[in-house]
Amino acid sequence: MKKALLLVLISIITITSCHEKKQTEPEIASKTYLEESHSYAQPNDAVITHLDLDIDVDFDSQIISGTATYNIENSGSNQIILDSKFLEIESVTQNGEQTEFELGEFDESLGQSLIIKIKEDTKQIAITYSTTAKTEALQWLTTHQTADKTNPFLFTQGQAILTRTWIPIQDSPQIRITYDATVKVPQELMAVMSAENPKEKNENGVYQFKMEQPIPAYLIALAVGDIEYKAISDRTGVYAEKSMLDKVHEEFSDMEKMVVAAENLYGDYDWEQFDVIVLPPSFPFGGMENPRLTFATPTVIAGDKSLTSLVAHELAHSWSGNLVTNATWNDFWLNEGFTVYFEIRIMEALYGKDRANMLALIGRQDLEDELEALKESPNDTKLKLDLKGRNPDDGMNSIAYDKGYLFLRTLEEKVGRDNMDAFLKSYFKKNAFSTTNTEDFISYLNENLLGKNNITFNTEEWIYQPGIPENAAVIESDAFSNVEKTLEEFLKTNSIDVAKTENWAPQEWVHFVRNFPKDITPDQMQQLDNSFDFTNSTNSYITMVWYEQSILNGYHGNNVDTKIAKFLNTVGRRWYVTTLFSAFAKAERIEEAIEIYKTARGNYHSVTANTVDEMLGVK
Ligand SMILES: [Zn+2]
Repeated sequence: MKKALLLVLISIITITSCHEKKQTEPEIASKTYLEESHSYAQPNDAVITHLDLDIDVDFDSQIISGTATYNIENSGSNQIILDSKFLEIESVTQNGEQTEFELGEFDESLGQSLIIKIKEDTKQIAITYSTTAKTEALQWLTTHQTADKTNPFLFTQGQAILTRTWIPIQDSPQIRITYDATVKVPQELMAVMSAENPKEKNENGVYQFKMEQPIPAYLIALAVGDIEYKAISDRTGVYAEKSMLDKVHEEFSDMEKMVVAAENLYGDYDWEQFDVIVLPPSFPFGGMENPRLTFATPTVIAGDKSLTSLVAHELAHSWSGNLVTNATWNDFWLNEGFTVYFEIRIMEALYGKDRANMLALIGRQDLEDELEALKESPNDTKLKLDLKGRNPDDGMNSIAYDKGYLFLRTLEEKVGRDNMDAFLKSYFKKNAFSTTNTEDFISYLNENLLGKNNITFNTEEWIYQPGIPENAAVIESDAFSNVEKTLEEFLKTNSIDVAKTENWAPQEWVHFVRNFPKDITPDQMQQLDNSFDFTNSTNSYITMVWYEQSILNGYHGNNVDTKIAKFLNTVGRRWYVTTLFSAFAKAERIEEAIEIYKTARGNYHSVTANTVDEMLGVK
């Protein structure tokens, strides 16, 4: 079990609607909630509907403290249960009067239940609390860990079940709330949230936020830093530290075009504003789709827009994930498989089929690696998972993303693109601002796509069986075939025609490096490094796969070992970090890895550190 988990984590992937308010309100009260194993909340008895957060962000003590006031719907219960982990609960009121509360037994992944006494007519509860040093959602960065190196920085990461470590809340993806917030920060810093945001710093350091569309708790997010805003269009723009702002603005300048392409596919963008904040390099994911404000890693700033499919991915989540949310973490593939499919469609609309197929093929290879890693635990290769008693993070791997994608792509090839698009558009519209699970999806699919067109398809096999069904779509890319041929020739002749590679996109280079055979020699790698300077590439994806190969194949030229150590001490993106540490483990160079990790760990968010702790056995 432990081993399987470790292997799953080795190949984690990036790991990151029309505006009619009437859609958003009444549904909350009348809903019946499914049994859910990752939250203590009993929403069918009493459920939160709105949060008013009033907090103070103190960088000196690295503590957030304040009051979370909730509007609730009570179906006659004498208690309401929230989730809480590593929080100091000071006092609780109901309808403005002090009330009793109790914290349940502590569970390592779920934390504690917070049971609050209420009355039948209780409409509001308020919890005064503070975070502690153990919080897992928050990462406090020193000035040294930022791009500008002049001020500290703070960001949160809520998915999957970490929001409960900075706000006491009903932390289930089924429970949607609207929120307001008042956030006090040091005067020289600006706060932004997954909400309506300021575009400039203000004098007193107090910021007001409003999120009027109901969202699940994992999408509540906060970042505080010395940041500035630069618009790309009326509804898109970027936040970053000053020294990064122009670069980020240039890199993401196609954002408005991406929103238009997405709307053309699946209907209006329903969140009004789509901004991206580029965080310091310790951010643990490629991106996180916090509504209205995607959080992103600076590792995608390559200078040539080559890694911006990440923005397309997070934008796609505005439909799949944020608008239509997986009901439980067992249905995570509904969030991610649909998003990868949508992302690749956006990329195709903007940059053509070749680029889209390259992305799809890179994902296909990730999927093969994941299947290999999971061969001892085939149940984890099903799309619908059973994560009861496990951390939902266990399901955040290539199966949800790339098997999910392959299922939808195969379905598209079977039913035809026009039918597929009409179906997806209606699916998003029908389930907007709501949650859905795998079974509801299957009935909707049967009724509205397959049945309607008299098509039979092995949906159940794709979703409930391990591995990849035989009818999987075959994805081809002439560009990649050419890359494979070039690599083969080099391995045979030890010479490479540099002119032939002149126009290669970074994805082609990634494919080239990733496909080195096990017996490639350090001399051959030295020769390639001399020709293409992979060790010093400015594209983080290329350097990451090159470093992986260097570790695996014992290449030590061009000071690559120092570069790898530096990379691991700077970048906290979990996918990159775990790929490299797992390469050290495979190459039986674990002592070197532990040596690097000693200094690097302090730069990682808990999400990354917890994974590497397990991987290196240093917990
Ligand atoms: Zn995603």
